Amino acid sequence: MGMASHHPTNLHFVLFPLMAQGHMIPMFDMARILAQRGCIVTIITSPVNANRFRSVIDRAIEAKLKIQILELKLQLAEAGLPEGCENFDLLPSPALAGNMVLAMNMLEEPAENMLRGLCPPPSCIISDGGFPWTTDVAKRLKIPRVIFYGPGCFAFLCVHVVTTTNILDEIDSDSEYFVMPGLPDRIEVTKPQASTWGRGDTKESTALFEGMQEAEKDAIGIVVNSFEELEPEYVEGLAKAKDKKVWCVGPVSLCNKSFQDRAERGNKTVIDGHDCLKWLDSRESGSVVYVCLGSLTYASTEQSIELGLGLESSNIPFIWFIRQTSEDFEAWLSKEGYEERIKGKGLMVRGWAPQILILSHQAIGGFVTHCGWNSSLEGISAGIPMVTWPQFGEQFLNERFITNVLKIGVKIGMELPVLFPKLNEPKEILKRDVIKEAVEGLMRNDEEGVARRKRSREFGVMANTAMNEGGSSHLNMTSMIQAITEDLAKNAKPIQDTI
Ligand code: UDP
Repeated sequence: MGMASHHPTNLHFVLFPLMAQGHMIPMFDMARILAQRGCIVTIITSPVNANRFRSVIDRAIEAKLKIQILELKLQLAEAGLPEGCENFDLLPSPALAGNMVLAMNMLEEPAENMLRGLCPPPSCIISDGGFPWTTDVAKRLKIPRVIFYGPGCFAFLCVHVVTTTNILDEIDSDSEYFVMPGLPDRIEVTKPQASTWGRGDTKESTALFEGMQEAEKDAIGIVVNSFEELEPEYVEGLAKAKDKKVWCVGPVSLCNKSFQDRAERGNKTVIDGHDCLKWLDSRESGSVVYVCLGSLTYASTEQSIELGLGLESSNIPFIWFIRQTSEDFEAWLSKEGYEERIKGKGLMVRGWAPQILILSHQAIGGFVTHCGWNSSLEGISAGIPMVTWPQFGEQFLNERFITNVLKIGVKIGMELPVLFPKLNEPKEILKRDVIKEAVEGLMRNDEEGVARRKRSREFGVMANTAMNEGGSSHLNMTSMIQAITEDLAKNAKPIQDTI
């Protein structure tokens, strides 16, 4: 298990994951998949982030994979960030996101120096779209760059539409739904839902998005955490729109086979992780809904209370993970005796969820998700239907994909993006009744519910098949490795000619 199952190559991939959990986690999975295919892999990240992944990489090294993490310090003070603040999920305030981008941009020179010292020398950079400067570094080192963004092809294609047409300028109202032009399915969104990714609203974010687009031109291709059977028309559409190779190599989370790799992904899980599995063991198959809103979402006290009451009043057992609670919310919980009250029916856990372990537990029958792409794909891989509760970024697009294209989700009815709200923007709080109805609706065994469950299961099977030997994602990984080999050979030619 985990041994290099393919012929060793002397290709050396260097990976630069963006400092956000939704980007780091899939990149670390991809790193191990490449190493399992016999490649040498170096992941470059900052000390705090390296620590989060140390044990998973140590296990890979023990399994004889040629993989390492190298640490590069972020210039935090220079970027106006506090000590230790090395990931978007560690920012004391979303207002500091721009400073984080600044710190990431300052990595160009030290990263290039590090790459020049590597032995064997790097053959390819796979870097997050958020590091446009890696294109220049790759050029100077005369090696190809592959881009990784995070979202799937559907959302990606929507972002392409929004950034390359005037569609958003033609829409006046923020509440009007319009049809996204040029897509194979009829997808309706509002302007705020479509514009929180790909178009900046500050000087820094606009510059970053423009830089990303410019840097894209020189990349050899795009690697995507998705699988072809999930969104064939969008994979093709994206490749055409970008005029690039698109390699779908996922769902990468499925590379985690051992209990430990599955339990401890991206962060230390809460100590009672095992207890919650025991709790799940005692529940009926497919009866429980799992609630987790990702690594960045911050629910207000008011919203957390409504969610708590909504779950409590539904007739569905639940396991609810909360990333961050506030003093006010804690005070409410103890005043109400909430955790006592839900005993036997629900479980509330503070901290980092062992998400893929929970999703694949036989007791889980539904997932309330914020529609981050990784969570969406992990739900799909586990064959579980979802209540979609998008918050920001491209999550509203992912919601449309889950509900309108795949038809494996129930919309909770969120309208406005949150997290980085502009001043004076109206806040949207979903009431307990809405949450109760969505969860019960998802788990209902009416005709629609049964069909939704069946479709979810089918996508789950397809996801696993894609990742198995001979499956589409497995083959795409082979062709990506091959493309890099060929590109290197092509570029090395003039040197050979002189011999
Ligand atoms: N995750 C986890 N435990 C948690 C919260 C998140 O393991 O308590 C993982 C989840 O499995 C996924 C990633 O963190 O792989 C979150 O990425 P996603 O794209 O879903 O959302 P983001 O956090 O970037 O908004």
